[in-house]
Amino acid sequence: MYRSPFIKAAKLTKAFDVKGTAWAAGRHTGEDYIPKDGTIRATLVSPASGTVLDKSFDDSYGHKIIIRTTDSKVILMAHMESKSTAGNTVVAGNHVGIMGDTGNGSGHHLHIEVQNSTTWKYNSNLLRPSLYIDFGNFSGAVPKVPIVGGGSYSTGNYMVTASSGINVRVDAGTGYAVKGSATKGTIFAVSKITSNGTWGYTSSIQCTNGKQSGWLSLENCSPATTINPGGSGGSRYSTGNYVVTVSSGINVRVDAGTGYAVKGSATKGTRFAVSKIASNGTWGYTSSIQCTNGKQSGWLSLENCSPV
Ligand SMILES: [Zn+2]
Repeated sequence: MYRSPFIKAAKLTKAFDVKGTAWAAGRHTGEDYIPKDGTIRATLVSPASGTVLDKSFDDSYGHKIIIRTTDSKVILMAHMESKSTAGNTVVAGNHVGIMGDTGNGSGHHLHIEVQNSTTWKYNSNLLRPSLYIDFGNFSGAVPKVPIVGGGSYSTGNYMVTASSGINVRVDAGTGYAVKGSATKGTIFAVSKITSNGTWGYTSSIQCTNGKQSGWLSLENCSPATTINPGGSGGSRYSTGNYVVTVSSGINVRVDAGTGYAVKGSATKGTRFAVSKIASNGTWGYTSSIQCTNGKQSGWLSLENCSPV
Protein backbone atom coordinates (compact mmCIF):
# COMPACT_ATOMS: atom_id res chain seq x y z
CA MET A 1 0.00 0.00 0.00
CA TYR A 2 0.97 3.61 -0.46
CA ARG A 3 1.82 5.76 2.52
CA SER A 4 -0.46 8.50 3.86
CA PRO A 5 -0.47 11.85 2.06
CA PHE A 6 -0.37 13.42 5.55
CA ILE A 7 2.43 13.44 8.09
CA LYS A 8 0.00 13.13 10.97
CA ALA A 9 -3.10 11.16 11.79
CA ALA A 10 -6.07 11.91 9.53
CA LYS A 11 -9.71 10.96 9.43
CA LEU A 12 -12.15 10.26 6.62
CA THR A 13 -14.83 12.94 6.28
CA LYS A 14 -16.51 11.84 3.04
CA ALA A 15 -16.45 8.29 1.77
CA PHE A 16 -15.82 7.06 -1.76
CA ASP A 17 -18.73 6.57 -4.16
CA VAL A 18 -21.33 8.29 -1.99
CA LYS A 19 -24.16 9.44 -4.28
CA GLY A 20 -25.17 13.08 -4.41
CA THR A 21 -26.13 15.93 -6.67
CA ALA A 22 -23.37 18.13 -5.29
CA TRP A 23 -21.01 16.34 -7.66
CA ALA A 24 -21.17 16.58 -11.43
CA ALA A 25 -20.53 12.85 -11.57
CA GLY A 26 -23.51 12.20 -9.32
CA ARG A 27 -21.18 10.51 -6.88
CA HIS A 28 -18.05 11.20 -4.87
CA THR A 29 -15.14 10.20 -7.07
CA GLY A 30 -12.62 10.04 -4.24
CA GLU A 31 -12.27 10.25 -0.48
CA ASP A 32 -12.01 13.36 1.69
CA TYR A 33 -9.69 13.62 4.68
CA ILE A 34 -8.66 16.14 7.30
CA PRO A 35 -6.04 15.84 10.05
CA LYS A 36 -7.47 14.56 13.31
CA ASP A 37 -5.90 17.45 15.17
CA GLY A 38 -7.79 20.00 13.09
CA THR A 39 -4.80 21.48 11.25
CA ILE A 40 -6.18 23.30 8.22
CA ARG A 41 -2.92 24.01 6.41
CA ALA A 42 -1.54 20.53 6.78
CA THR A 43 1.59 19.44 4.96
CA LEU A 44 0.85 17.04 2.11
CA VAL A 45 3.33 14.52 0.77
CA SER A 46 3.23 12.13 -2.13
CA PRO A 47 1.76 8.76 -1.08
CA ALA A 48 3.84 7.00 -3.73
CA SER A 49 6.91 7.36 -5.87
CA GLY A 50 6.23 8.27 -9.45
CA THR A 51 5.91 10.92 -12.12
CA VAL A 52 4.10 14.21 -11.76
CA LEU A 53 1.64 14.35 -14.68
CA ASP A 54 -0.13 17.55 -13.81
CA LYS A 55 0.15 20.50 -11.46
CA SER A 56 -2.62 22.91 -12.26
CA PHE A 57 -5.66 24.79 -11.04
CA ASP A 58 -9.25 24.40 -12.10
CA ASP A 59 -12.55 25.63 -10.76
CA SER A 60 -13.62 22.19 -9.56
CA TYR A 61 -10.47 20.69 -8.05
CA GLY A 62 -8.67 23.93 -7.21
CA HIS A 63 -4.91 23.50 -6.92
CA LYS A 64 -4.31 19.86 -7.77
CA ILE A 65 -1.50 17.48 -8.46
CA ILE A 66 -1.70 14.22 -10.39
CA ILE A 67 0.97 11.59 -9.84
CA ARG A 68 1.48 8.44 -11.93
CA THR A 69 2.81 5.83 -9.55
CA THR A 70 5.63 3.48 -10.42
CA ASP A 71 3.11 0.63 -10.32
CA SER A 72 0.95 2.28 -12.98
CA LYS A 73 -1.88 3.94 -11.15
CA VAL A 74 -2.70 7.62 -10.87
CA ILE A 75 -3.31 9.60 -7.71
CA LEU A 76 -5.10 12.95 -7.71
CA MET A 77 -4.79 15.32 -4.74
CA ALA A 78 -7.11 18.32 -4.88
CA HIS A 79 -8.29 21.54 -3.20
CA MET A 80 -4.73 22.36 -2.08
CA GLU A 81 -3.77 25.81 -0.88
CA SER A 82 -0.45 25.60 -2.68
CA LYS A 83 1.72 23.16 -4.58
CA SER A 84 5.40 22.82 -3.89
CA THR A 85 6.82 20.08 -6.07
CA ALA A 86 9.53 21.53 -8.23
CA GLY A 87 10.46 18.52 -10.33
CA ASN A 88 8.70 16.01 -12.54
CA THR A 89 9.35 13.03 -10.33
CA VAL A 90 8.51 12.38 -6.71
CA VAL A 91 9.52 9.85 -4.11
CA ALA A 92 6.99 8.70 -1.55
CA GLY A 93 7.13 11.24 1.26
CA ASN A 94 8.21 14.14 -0.94
CA HIS A 95 6.51 17.35 -0.07
CA VAL A 96 3.87 18.21 -2.66
CA GLY A 97 1.73 20.91 -1.09
CA ILE A 98 -0.39 22.36 1.66
CA MET A 99 -3.96 21.28 2.31
CA GLY A 100 -6.42 23.98 1.35
CA ASP A 101 -9.92 25.00 0.37
CA THR A 102 -9.54 25.90 -3.30
CA GLY A 103 -11.95 24.98 -6.09
CA ASN A 104 -15.38 23.50 -5.51
CA GLY A 105 -14.87 22.53 -1.89
CA SER A 106 -16.48 23.13 1.45
CA GLY A 107 -13.82 23.92 3.98
CA HIS A 108 -10.21 22.79 4.18
CA HIS A 109 -9.76 19.14 3.29
CA LEU A 110 -7.85 16.82 0.99
CA HIS A 111 -9.82 15.18 -1.81
CA ILE A 112 -7.84 12.21 -3.06
CA GLU A 113 -8.56 9.86 -5.94
CA VAL A 114 -6.86 6.71 -7.13
CA GLN A 115 -7.45 5.45 -10.65
CA ASN A 116 -6.44 2.16 -12.19
CA SER A 117 -4.83 3.82 -15.19
CA THR A 118 -1.58 5.50 -16.21
CA THR A 119 -3.45 8.70 -17.08
CA TRP A 120 -6.05 10.52 -15.05
CA LYS A 121 -9.51 10.87 -16.54
CA TYR A 122 -12.49 12.40 -14.79
CA ASN A 123 -14.82 9.86 -13.17
CA SER A 124 -13.02 6.92 -14.79
CA ASN A 125 -11.22 3.79 -13.61
CA LEU A 126 -11.93 4.78 -10.04
CA LEU A 127 -10.60 2.80 -7.11
CA ARG A 128 -11.45 3.16 -3.44
CA PRO A 129 -8.45 5.17 -2.15
CA SER A 130 -8.39 3.61 1.31
CA LEU A 131 -7.79 0.20 -0.25
CA TYR A 132 -4.53 1.50 -1.72
CA ILE A 133 -3.42 4.15 0.76
CA ASP A 134 -2.56 3.34 4.35
CA PHE A 135 -3.53 6.49 6.23
CA GLY A 136 -2.04 4.98 9.37
CA ASN A 137 1.37 5.07 7.73
CA PHE A 138 2.18 8.73 8.31
CA SER A 139 5.07 8.68 10.76
CA GLY A 140 8.74 8.66 10.01
CA ALA A 141 8.16 10.79 6.99
CA VAL A 142 10.41 13.78 6.75
CA PRO A 143 9.09 15.86 3.90
CA LYS A 144 11.88 16.52 1.49
CA VAL A 145 11.77 20.10 0.46
CA PRO A 146 12.37 20.91 -3.18
CA ILE A 147 14.66 23.85 -2.68
CA VAL A 148 18.11 23.90 -4.22
CA GLY A 149 21.31 25.72 -3.41
CA GLY A 150 22.21 27.51 -0.24
CA GLY A 151 24.58 26.81 2.57
CA SER A 152 24.50 24.33 5.31
CA TYR A 153 23.38 25.01 8.85
CA SER A 154 22.95 22.97 11.98
CA THR A 155 20.50 23.06 14.85
CA GLY A 156 21.11 25.54 17.65
CA ASN A 157 20.51 29.16 18.46
CA TYR A 158 20.25 31.86 15.81
CA MET A 159 19.68 35.58 15.60
CA VAL A 160 17.86 37.42 12.83
CA THR A 161 20.41 39.62 11.06
CA ALA A 162 18.46 41.02 8.11
CA SER A 163 17.61 44.66 8.79
CA SER A 164 14.16 44.22 7.30
CA GLY A 165 13.41 41.31 9.61
CA ILE A 166 12.49 37.83 8.49
CA ASN A 167 9.32 35.87 7.75
CA VAL A 168 8.25 32.78 9.65
CA ARG A 169 6.47 30.40 7.30
CA VAL A 170 4.25 27.34 7.59
CA ASP A 171 6.81 25.28 5.72
CA ALA A 172 10.33 25.51 4.34
CA GLY A 173 10.29 27.65 1.24
CA THR A 174 9.37 31.14 0.14
CA GLY A 175 6.27 29.75 -1.58
CA TYR A 176 4.63 28.94 1.74
CA ALA A 177 2.28 31.12 3.73
CA VAL A 178 3.72 33.63 6.20
CA LYS A 179 2.73 33.17 9.84
CA GLY A 180 4.55 36.18 11.20
CA SER A 181 7.60 38.38 11.02
CA ALA A 182 10.56 38.58 13.40
CA THR A 183 12.64 41.72 13.65
CA LYS A 184 16.43 42.05 13.49
CA GLY A 185 18.10 40.86 16.67
CA THR A 186 15.43 38.29 17.54
CA ILE A 187 16.88 35.08 18.96
CA PHE A 188 15.40 31.66 18.34
CA ALA A 189 16.32 28.00 18.68
CA VAL A 190 16.38 25.77 15.59
CA SER A 191 15.44 22.15 16.27
CA LYS A 192 15.15 20.83 12.68
CA ILE A 193 16.96 21.59 9.43
CA THR A 194 15.68 20.94 5.92
CA SER A 195 17.45 18.45 3.71
CA ASN A 196 19.10 21.21 1.72
CA GLY A 197 20.41 22.76 4.90
CA THR A 198 19.10 26.28 4.44
CA TRP A 199 15.82 26.37 6.36
CA GLY A 200 15.37 25.86 10.07
CA TYR A 201 12.35 25.12 12.21
CA THR A 202 11.75 26.84 15.53
CA SER A 203 9.07 25.91 18.01
CA SER A 204 8.81 29.50 19.20
CA ILE A 205 9.96 32.88 17.97
CA GLN A 206 8.79 36.33 18.95
CA CYS A 207 7.07 37.90 15.95
CA THR A 208 5.37 41.24 15.52
CA ASN A 209 2.03 39.40 15.74
CA GLY A 210 2.96 37.29 18.75
CA LYS A 211 4.91 34.11 19.32
CA GLN A 212 4.99 31.73 16.39
CA SER A 213 6.45 28.39 15.42
CA GLY A 214 7.59 27.74 11.88
CA TRP A 215 10.32 27.76 9.29
CA LEU A 216 12.84 30.51 8.57
CA SER A 217 15.53 30.95 5.97
CA LEU A 218 18.75 30.71 7.96
CA GLU A 219 20.60 32.63 5.27
CA ASN A 220 19.14 35.74 6.88
CA CYS A 221 20.38 34.78 10.34
CA SER A 222 23.61 34.09 12.17
CA PRO A 223 24.38 31.59 14.90
CA ALA A 224 23.91 33.11 18.33
CA THR A 225 25.04 32.16 21.76
CA THR A 226 22.68 32.39 24.66
CA ILE A 227 23.41 32.86 28.29
CA ASN A 228 24.38 29.90 30.41
CA PRO A 229 21.45 29.50 32.74
CA GLY A 230 22.34 29.43 36.35
CA GLY A 231 25.58 29.71 38.16
CA SER A 232 28.12 27.90 35.99
CA GLY A 233 30.98 30.34 35.82
CA GLY A 234 30.81 33.83 37.19
CA SER A 235 29.23 35.13 40.31
CA ARG A 236 25.71 36.31 40.72
CA TYR A 237 24.66 39.94 40.72
CA SER A 238 21.60 41.90 41.71
CA THR A 239 19.94 45.03 40.39
CA GLY A 240 21.40 48.40 41.39
CA ASN A 241 24.17 50.78 40.40
CA TYR A 242 27.43 49.66 38.80
CA VAL A 243 30.59 51.14 37.35
CA VAL A 244 32.65 49.78 34.46
CA THR A 245 35.97 48.60 35.86
CA VAL A 246 37.87 47.12 32.92
CA SER A 247 40.40 49.43 31.28
CA SER A 248 39.34 48.41 27.77
CA GLY A 249 35.74 49.38 28.42
CA ILE A 250 32.72 47.16 27.95
CA ASN A 251 30.26 46.33 25.21
CA VAL A 252 26.54 46.95 25.46
CA ARG A 253 24.68 44.21 23.60
CA VAL A 254 21.17 43.60 22.30
CA ASP A 255 20.82 40.58 24.53
CA ALA A 256 22.62 38.78 27.36
CA GLY A 257 25.55 36.94 25.82
CA THR A 258 28.74 37.62 23.90
CA GLY A 259 27.15 36.17 20.76
CA TYR A 260 24.74 39.07 20.49
CA ALA A 261 25.18 42.22 18.49
CA VAL A 262 27.03 45.14 20.04
CA LYS A 263 25.08 48.38 20.32
CA GLY A 264 27.87 50.47 21.77
CA SER A 265 30.86 50.59 24.09
CA ALA A 266 31.19 52.20 27.51
CA THR A 267 34.59 53.26 28.87
CA LYS A 268 36.10 52.50 32.27
CA GLY A 269 34.48 54.51 35.04
CA THR A 270 31.09 54.80 33.34
CA ARG A 271 28.21 54.41 35.77
CA PHE A 272 24.87 52.80 35.02
CA ALA A 273 21.80 51.37 36.73
CA VAL A 274 20.90 47.70 36.29
CA SER A 275 17.15 47.04 36.33
CA LYS A 276 17.14 43.38 35.21
CA ILE A 277 19.47 40.42 35.71
CA ALA A 278 19.76 37.53 33.25
CA SER A 279 18.87 34.06 34.49
CA ASN A 280 22.49 33.04 34.83
CA GLY A 281 23.08 35.99 37.12
CA THR A 282 26.05 37.44 35.24
CA TRP A 283 24.43 39.82 32.76
CA GLY A 284 22.56 43.00 33.64
CA TYR A 285 20.22 45.22 31.66
CA THR A 286 20.41 48.98 31.75
CA SER A 287 17.93 51.37 30.21
CA SER A 288 20.63 53.96 29.60
CA ILE A 289 24.39 54.00 29.60
CA GLN A 290 26.79 56.55 28.09
CA CYS A 291 28.65 54.87 25.24
CA THR A 292 31.22 56.22 22.81
CA ASN A 293 28.48 56.30 20.17
CA GLY A 294 25.85 57.92 22.40
CA LYS A 295 23.45 56.72 25.04
CA GLN A 296 22.36 53.10 24.72
CA SER A 297 20.15 50.62 26.47
CA GLY A 298 21.11 46.98 26.56
CA TRP A 299 22.92 44.13 28.30
CA LEU A 300 26.38 44.15 29.87
CA SER A 301 28.50 41.49 31.47
CA LEU A 302 28.60 42.49 35.13
CA GLU A 303 31.80 40.53 35.61
CA ASN A 304 33.55 43.56 34.15
CA CYS A 305 31.88 45.96 36.56
CA SER A 306 31.63 46.68 40.28
CA PRO A 307 28.67 47.70 42.42
CA VAL A 308 28.74 51.33 43.54
ZN1 LIG B 1 -13.99 14.96 -2.21
